[in-house]
Amino acid sequence: METLDFWVVSLLVFAFGASVGSFLNVVVYRLPAGLSLLNPPSRCPQCLHRLRVSENVPIFGWLRLQGRCAHCRSPISVRYPLVEAATGWIFLSTFWAFGLSLQTPGYWLFFSCLLALSLIDLDTMTLPNPLTQFGVVTGLLFQAWVGLTHDFSVSGLLTQLMTGIVGAVLGIWLLDLVRIVGTIAFGQEAMGGGDSKLAAMMGAWLGWKLLLLSGFLACLVGSVIGGGAIALKLMNRRQPMPFGPFLALGAVLAAFWGETLIATYLQVFFPLR
Ligand SMILES: [Zn+2]
Repeated sequence: METLDFWVVSLLVFAFGASVGSFLNVVVYRLPAGLSLLNPPSRCPQCLHRLRVSENVPIFGWLRLQGRCAHCRSPISVRYPLVEAATGWIFLSTFWAFGLSLQTPGYWLFFSCLLALSLIDLDTMTLPNPLTQFGVVTGLLFQAWVGLTHDFSVSGLLTQLMTGIVGAVLGIWLLDLVRIVGTIAFGQEAMGGGDSKLAAMMGAWLGWKLLLLSGFLACLVGSVIGGGAIALKLMNRRQPMPFGPFLALGAVLAAFWGETLIATYLQVFFPLR
């Protein structure tokens, strides 16, 4: 691509991602409350003032309003534009890393689900079933799509689909195992049942190898941050910590750098293979 075209396309990708982020804000707010995602249109939760089109533009709408409702002046959380900017940035990074491949639109969907689930987990300590189930089904469809476009054969499709199914099943088993061991070790419920469904979704999208790496990275980052928070007295040992955001972070790291990490690991520890 020409340099100018490249930057124009990048800008469009970021704008598209920010718009998706705007929708994710709606999902995060309404799904756990059991509200419809489409109706009513975006409005102020305080005075129910409906947002005008210019106020609903991702990131800029919030900046224009200076973080307050145009009608009742009640504050609008800075989290909304931050989520929009983060989604735009995630979409752009995916596009830069995977270019014009199936992975780009596929991972846009996968990472959007992960971000929404992480925020819901932080807010409510739950991972809603409809969203994890949607993630498992779309993950398997993604594998079938990759298999089919790779060599246009039924066996190609089935092989790739099996990668997703094995990953999903392993995800459920693995997290259930971690939960049982954790519950015995800490004498309290270590993780919610939603975590194993999230792991199933990650396995469907990434396959078993990258799923294992994601789980390892999630435990690593989770124990560093959890341990740090306890050491700094920001948290006490008994306080429950949502694990979903760490799993999601592990999945994103594995999707971007998993193949490189695994290849390096094998080269270092098994150089003669
Ligand atoms: Zn208002």
